[in-house]
Amino acid sequence: MKILINILVLFLIGISSISAQNTCGTVQDEAFMQRLIKNKAYWNETINKGFDTRYVPITFHMVARSDGTGRIGEETIYRTMCLLNQRYETAGVDMYFYIEGLNEINNTGVWQDPFNNGGLMRSFKSSNSLNIFVVDDIRREDGSGGTTLGYYTGGGDYVVMRKTAMGDASYTIEHELGHFFTLAHTHRGWEDEGWDPNIYPQKIEFLEIGSSQTQPVLVELVDGSNCEFAADFICDTPADYGRGFTCNCCVLNDIILDRNCDTLAPMMNNIMSYSGGCDTWEFSPDQIVAIQTSYDAPDRTYLRQGNVDTYTPVADGITYIHPMNAEKVDVYDNVKLEWEAVPNAEFYTVIINSVEHTTTNNYFNVTTLTPNKSFNFWGVKAFNKFGGGCAEFQEIYFDVGDQETSAVSELDYVESVNVFPNPVQATASFNVSLSSAKAFKGDVIIYDLAGKTVYQIENLNFINGANSHLVPAGNLSSGIHILEVRTTEGSITEKLIIE
Ligand SMILES: [Zn+2]
Repeated sequence: MKILINILVLFLIGISSISAQNTCGTVQDEAFMQRLIKNKAYWNETINKGFDTRYVPITFHMVARSDGTGRIGEETIYRTMCLLNQRYETAGVDMYFYIEGLNEINNTGVWQDPFNNGGLMRSFKSSNSLNIFVVDDIRREDGSGGTTLGYYTGGGDYVVMRKTAMGDASYTIEHELGHFFTLAHTHRGWEDEGWDPNIYPQKIEFLEIGSSQTQPVLVELVDGSNCEFAADFICDTPADYGRGFTCNCCVLNDIILDRNCDTLAPMMNNIMSYSGGCDTWEFSPDQIVAIQTSYDAPDRTYLRQGNVDTYTPVADGITYIHPMNAEKVDVYDNVKLEWEAVPNAEFYTVIINSVEHTTTNNYFNVTTLTPNKSFNFWGVKAFNKFGGGCAEFQEIYFDVGDQETSAVSELDYVESVNVFPNPVQATASFNVSLSSAKAFKGDVIIYDLAGKTVYQIENLNFINGANSHLVPAGNLSSGIHILEVRTTEGSITEKLIIE
């Protein structure tokens, strides 16, 4: 049984990084490496600061075709953020990312060919956050095969992500943010070919210029004697000749010797490598210091203007209250979906029979169900600026009967609720009448079918006895709405049709 479980776990977590034919398009030329050299001069300052949690605002530019189609969904952005924060936390970076803005761009050029639309992309940049453009495709400059999943450009100081690499197991955004914070590939120089037993028994000192370099790259030695200026210029990442890329593996099965005949022992699961199939991915301690130092640098002042100082993730689990799984609800035309409020949640996405709604409440009134329909599905995810929805959606099903609701009251001292006329004309007024066994105060709120509050009157007084309040329909758009009288003890809801 234990073996079975282990196989299953391996299957689930045996995920690949940027690998196989999937590569990164970051150009690590001399200008790129100069940023790291400059960065290293301040490492001691960062180390002397000790623990200091850093918060990074991100603006996602969600790019679509010029006609507005083909854009990434917001839920994928939030899931990507959730994973990113978990993965950087696990890697020990002590840095958290939050959404500062979501920007929509409609431009087919940027959508499919960001390399050649950099000028336009710079004009969309936010000046107070890290900019990430999410596009459909990244064409290669040289027209060669393979898929570019993402890249960072020092010239524009922004990251580009391929839509299909967002929120998946590839660790692409974690890798590209490593580049944003000055890191190069652990196997820099070997990106195009990788170590090959037929070519590299030779004792070469420099690799030829590859697609991501402008000068030959010094081959790193196992003994660390040239680590300051070989490959990634970082000394605690061991010499890595890119074998993880060609084998798409996380365990080195070849004996690779450097030109001193020392045996390589690369950090196969490094986030800045191209290995595949590792179960956990890490940065080395020096890489973490480099990331933190880059954040603290003068040219990154713009990242430090926010006022976020606590990481408050939302938990994945939702406790459903009503309807529960397999429950039968007698009414069909106004079913209140309800769940326990999730700590730190800023909003919820509710999915009902594949249709998504967004609300800030921990309930949602659904009025679009078909009478006597079985197997209606609903589910909820909680989100905030740090992301959400790392885990898969849990959907539950319920059946509805054919009864129509008149007003539903949760207040046991209120009876004979009546809303009339109903339908009401948008420019007219309607009555909310009810009989109450005690006086209370309530807010009258009208929602549209998307759960958005479109009208609200606060603190209306209801007396002990018969009440009738005349409420203007507020010139709302025509269609079905939900009227709610909300008190601190519960609420009364009724379907309201605006003509
Ligand atoms: Zn890369």
